[in-house]
Formats: sequence, C-alpha cells, structure tokens
Amino acid sequence: MNVYDSSRIADMLKKEGYEETLKQAEADIVLFNTCHIREKAAEKLFSDLGRAKLIADERAENGQRTIIGVAGCVVQAEDEQIIKRAPYVDFAVGPQMYFRIPEILHKIERTKKHQSVIDTDFPAISKFDFLPENKAQGACSYLAVQEGCNNFCTYCVVPYTRGAEYSRSVADVLTEAKRLIAGGTLEINLLGQNVNSYHGEDESGKERNLAYLLHKIAELDGLKRLRYTTSYPADMTDELITCHKDIDILMPYLHLPVQSGSDKILKAMNRRHSSSDYLKVVEKLYTANPKLKMSSDFIVGFPGETDEDFAQTLDVVNKVKYIQAFSFKYSRRPGTPAAVMENQVEEKVKKERLEILQTLLFDYQTKFNESCVGKTMPVLFEQKGRHKGQLIGRTPYMQNLHIETKDDNMNKIVDVVVCEATTNSLSGKEL
Ligand code: SAH
Ligand code: SF4
Repeated sequence: MNVYDSSRIADMLKKEGYEETLKQAEADIVLFNTCHIREKAAEKLFSDLGRAKLIADERAENGQRTIIGVAGCVVQAEDEQIIKRAPYVDFAVGPQMYFRIPEILHKIERTKKHQSVIDTDFPAISKFDFLPENKAQGACSYLAVQEGCNNFCTYCVVPYTRGAEYSRSVADVLTEAKRLIAGGTLEINLLGQNVNSYHGEDESGKERNLAYLLHKIAELDGLKRLRYTTSYPADMTDELITCHKDIDILMPYLHLPVQSGSDKILKAMNRRHSSSDYLKVVEKLYTANPKLKMSSDFIVGFPGETDEDFAQTLDVVNKVKYIQAFSFKYSRRPGTPAAVMENQVEEKVKKERLEILQTLLFDYQTKFNESCVGKTMPVLFEQKGRHKGQLIGRTPYMQNLHIETKDDNMNKIVDVVVCEATTNSLSGKEL
C-alpha cells in the first residue's frame, strides 16, 4: 500500500512540475513515506531524517533550499511528536491527507521562515476523489480498491492509522483499471488492508463484493494477470474461493495471513477465525484450484504464547506448505490492547522462535523453488537486471526469475524454462 501511495504522491508532484531523483543532493524536496506497523519501521524514520537534515544543511551552504516532508502512518500515530523530535521537518501528512501535499508546498514556498505544517485529519470525502489519474507504472500495476480496517486485531495499529474500512466504487475501480491497461499494464494487483472485505457500490447503488469486482475486471480486454492482497481469513467466502476456479487470469497464488496456529493466541489477538477455520479455507482453495499455492504472515511471541502454542503454528506451516511468508517478532505498539497485556514474551524467546519458524518456512520455499527446475513457466518481465542483457520478471507464483535475453522482452509475458533455483529466486532461459 505504501508503494502505491508513494507512486500516487509522485504523480501529484509531477503534475506540479517536479521530477523524481534518487540522488538526495539533487532533491529540492525529500519525502519519507512511513510505516508504523512495527517499532523498527517507525524508528528508522528518525535516523533517515537525521541524514536528510545533514544533506539539506550542505545544500543550504550553496544557497539551495530543501523541503523535508513526512507522509504515512508514523505521522498519523506520532502527530506533533515528529516535529518535537525533528523540528526541521517542513510538513507531515497522514495517509489520508497526502492529496494536500501540493497545496502545502505552495504555502511553504511562499513563506520564507521555517514553519512546520501537520495534517492528520481524516477527510469527509475519500482522498481518491482528489488524486490525479493513476497512470500505468509498467506492465504490473497496483490498484487500491479498499483501505482501512475494522477488525482491531489487538496487536495492530492499522485501524488507528489508516482509519475505518472504505471501499471505492465499482465504476471508479473499473475506470482506473481500464486506464492502467491502456497504458500497458498486463497485471493488476488489487490492494486493500483487508481487500476481501471489499463492498463498493455499483452504478445503481447496490453493494458489490470482491468476487463481483474480480469478474468485472477479468472481463476487460488486454489484461493477462489479476491478483489481490491482503486478505483476512474470515472474509474468504465460498463465492470468492470459487473465483480461483472460474477466473483463468486470477494467478494461482494467494497471500492469506494466519498469524498464529494456536486458537488461544488467535482469540487473544481478536482474530475472527480459529486455526481449523483457516485450514478449511485453505483446503477449499486447494480444491478450487489444485495449482494454487499460498503465502502468509506470522507473528511469534505474542503475549502469552507458550512453546505449545508456538508448536501449533509450526503445525499449520507443515499442513499448508507455504511457498513464501513474512514472519515477525511481536512488536509492542503503543495504544493497542496487546501492548499492555501482562504476559509479554521475553525477547530471547521471540528470537529463538522466529529462527525456528523461518528455518521451516525457508525450507518449504526452497523446496518449491527447486521443484520448478525443468518446468516451463510464463514470466512477466518488468525490470532490468544488474548485468547487461539481464531481465527480471515474476512467475505466476510471484517468484523472481532472471534470464539473459533481448530487451524487447521487457513488459512482456514470455515462456521460460527454469534452470536453477535458490531460496529467493529462479533463473531460466527462453523456451
Ligand atoms: N490485514 C492483514 C495484515 C496487515 S499488517 C491481515 O490481517 O492479515 C501486515 C502484517 O504485519 C500482519 O499480517 C502482521 O503479521 C504484521 N504485524 C502487524 N502488527 C504487528 C505487530 N504489532 N508486531 C509484529 N507484527 C505485526
Ligand atoms: Fe491489522 Fe490486518 Fe488485523 Fe486489520 S485485519 S487489524 S490490518 S492485522
């Protein structure tokens, strides 16, 4: 979602006449789009800001002004604290207010004296109504269809920083999808913090679900691949599961976070599913499309997690055999119910459990990658590699695959024979 938001911010600034640069010494504006999900992510901001200030000071010696801005969920959570810790920040906007950045910049450019602007409101009208058109970034594009969350898992800041659930209308989504396809997009990834609870209105004002939206998008000419992320297990309806059987461009790969395999912990997390509910959904998905593979998110060391609870998480991994996963040590987030639970798990135990879990997850990931060797896979190439003539693309299973090839394979889907596999990537040659 932050990648999507960042590209929308870049679109807005391009409209204002700015160009993107990766060299900070060249930048008139330095903007950090931030994540507050775990403590580490939030803390990183302040060290990055310190470095940005040093470069801004050097530029000031040459008479160049640098505007430093912060966007995203850290702003929403920390609010005025950001300016207290980094008073040189010119502006800070929450994830719902970034459409106001151009206006804020005009204001800053007009005032000679440093003054920090903070905006962490939630607008009455959706921010999507204020953003410029989303243009295709290449062959793969993100399309935000839903934002925010009403689930209030006890460890999570998202409902506080991104706000309540909001779904864009079917018409808005279809217009954006058509525009992306016209711009060369072959693969669309529908985004939402809780994307499968999508309930946007159609033209007659009727609420439609994600299954309906997927069918509508799949009908659009020119689109070759469709994905959606991230889904909440309790909202995986039978209708949505059937899409994995009926929609041929829906890729056979689904990210469905389970967090823990222990029912006691899932309950303490306020997840609305047990581990057997989750496994039933997975079984139905595997039946709907026998080629489908899964990925997940895990949290280890949630307050009260015992060795036995943790062993149940490993059981789920052994049953589902994920081909990719994100796993984290539980991070105490201020303001969330779990942060004040008394039975916090020691850091040392969290670290040990994370190592055990990751070893198991990497093992399944490596095994799956190795099982692809010798097979032919359609790969969508979207990035140049480090060496000349090298392209990097994605398989239907989101694996990174690189080949030596002609550049005119860029932004195309090409059949590739997989030659080698590691835990994190594949290499192959054109069929
Ligand atoms: N809506 C999605 C996840 C969004 S947050 C879902 O419900 O599954 C992305 C991931 O960050 C979560 O799946 C979770 O694994 C992790 N996460 C969120 N809060 C966390 C915390 N306090 N500590 C550690 N990991 C956390
Ligand atoms: Fe956070 Fe996901 Fe739970 Fe919502 S469903 S509170 S985004 S972990």
